[in-house]
Amino acid sequence: MIDVLVIGGGNAALCAALTAREAGASVLMLEASPRAWRGGNSQHTRNLRCMHDAPQDVLVDAYPEEEFWQDLLKVTGGRTDEALARLVIRASGSVRPWMRSHGVHFQPSLSGALHTARTNAFFMGGGKALLNAYYRSAERLGVAVRYEAPVQRLQLEGSRFVAAWVGDERIEARSCVLAAGGFESNREWLREAWGRNERGEYPADRFLIRGTRYNTGVLLRFMLDAGADAVGDPTQAHMVAIDARAPLYDGGICTRIDCVSLGVVVNRDGERFYDEGEDFWPKRYAIWGRLVAQQPQQLAYSIIDAKAVGRFMPPVFPGTRADSLPELARALQLPEQPLLRTLGAYNAACRPGSFDHTRLDDCRTEGLAPAKSHWALPIDTPPFQAYALRPGVTFTYLGLRTDESSAVRFGDRPSPNLYVAGEMMAGNVLGRGYTAGVGMSIGTAFGRIAGQRAAQAARGEAARAAA
Ligand SMILES: Cc1cc2nc3c(=O)[nH]c(=O)nc-3n(C[C@H](O)[C@H](O)[C@H](O)COP(=O)(O)OP(=O)(O)OC[C@H]3O[C@@H](n4cnc5c(N)ncnc54)[C@H](O)[C@@H]3O)c2cc1C
Repeated sequence: MIDVLVIGGGNAALCAALTAREAGASVLMLEASPRAWRGGNSQHTRNLRCMHDAPQDVLVDAYPEEEFWQDLLKVTGGRTDEALARLVIRASGSVRPWMRSHGVHFQPSLSGALHTARTNAFFMGGGKALLNAYYRSAERLGVAVRYEAPVQRLQLEGSRFVAAWVGDERIEARSCVLAAGGFESNREWLREAWGRNERGEYPADRFLIRGTRYNTGVLLRFMLDAGADAVGDPTQAHMVAIDARAPLYDGGICTRIDCVSLGVVVNRDGERFYDEGEDFWPKRYAIWGRLVAQQPQQLAYSIIDAKAVGRFMPPVFPGTRADSLPELARALQLPEQPLLRTLGAYNAACRPGSFDHTRLDDCRTEGLAPAKSHWALPIDTPPFQAYALRPGVTFTYLGLRTDESSAVRFGDRPSPNLYVAGEMMAGNVLGRGYTAGVGMSIGTAFGRIAGQRAAQAARGEAARAAA
């Protein structure tokens, strides 16, 4: 019988599989996707957030534990488990040598990459290269990997793992790690969670999924129905405003629209609805998916003029261009008069100041609701450009409650041989909000703990069976 069964094929699963194998266990990984699409959302990533007390290879200055913790506390509004969060933060400070030992290379942050040179270590070649390195290392160490092997359910005896089912095939193991992602690609579940709004719309029907189509939450649902303790709220997710032309799945980072803070954003009625200059874009980009989700038809338009060009990372596809604002309204099929009124009122409310996109400058509106607090320059210099925006779901936060051992809990008691890592438990640390790079910090820390614990549990199970 296999010692450790790992369900999933992304970063958390690989960290668990590699660690369990290093601890001497035999390991089988079951990945739902075909080989070409292996790696879930992790294939789209670029970096992980790391604490450090002094400059370290690709990381400048210092990013101490306390600052990381305060950042997390702020974005989650306190909806985080401090013990588990600090465990992730501390692990992030020492994990890179282990990652390097499995073939991962790092590079310094590039300019325009959300000002992350101090806090985030970038993977050379992105998440795809990281995964390829981990898969190569796993194969070299003798981890068995099966693709197109979606697990629909488990056989449990109370809280003890016995076997997993892939279709009609029953696979036994001494212990198991669940690392099968969130439920972001399950459109029915998203619809159920978001419900119907006051306009009679089902907002989730118009969401785009930034990552893999394989994170359908089948196993998460099975575990919740089987009585595993839950954490998080099904409507909470990392959601970004992305190019409305993005594909339904796997658009990745190149569909993000990063000019929001340099212009204005209006809805289908041509009205502004939120302060585009509230704070630095890296601290705000993850709230705009939800904001757009609340607008009619879940659509919005980011409008800039020629002054903004060159000040943000351009998206892959060019925006809609026009030489006048009425022409832009017609090209976007927005109601012309309301849009012109909105832009006229905004332009008139902009107070002169010293524009500086690298700090919270004094260019703001006066007497306008909603205000634009920083970087408010009139939209008056052609050519004008606009990008249609839709909510893009990165990953959901509903998951399984766990503890420092990464065990799945039933009735507040840990399972003896079933563990969880990555998006399936990220909600323990991220009740809401997000700070760039923490998804990979959580998956790496808990993946390694889960792998270690699962290997230990497998030894215990083997001894129990022999006795
Ligand atoms: C576009 C994009 C960019 C991102 N950038 C970053 C970044 O730079 N830094 C960062 O920290 N985070 C980033 N994230 C978030 C990050 O991807 C996740 O936090 C992280 O990858 C989660 O890892 P995971 O292993 O839990 O899930 P995943 O990597 O999604 O892996 C889940 C795996 O489970 C498999 N699976 C699902 N169901 C089953 C089943 N029933 N049976 C078997 N296998 C199953 C899937 O096929 C997949 O391989 C980004 C996400 C996206 C979408």
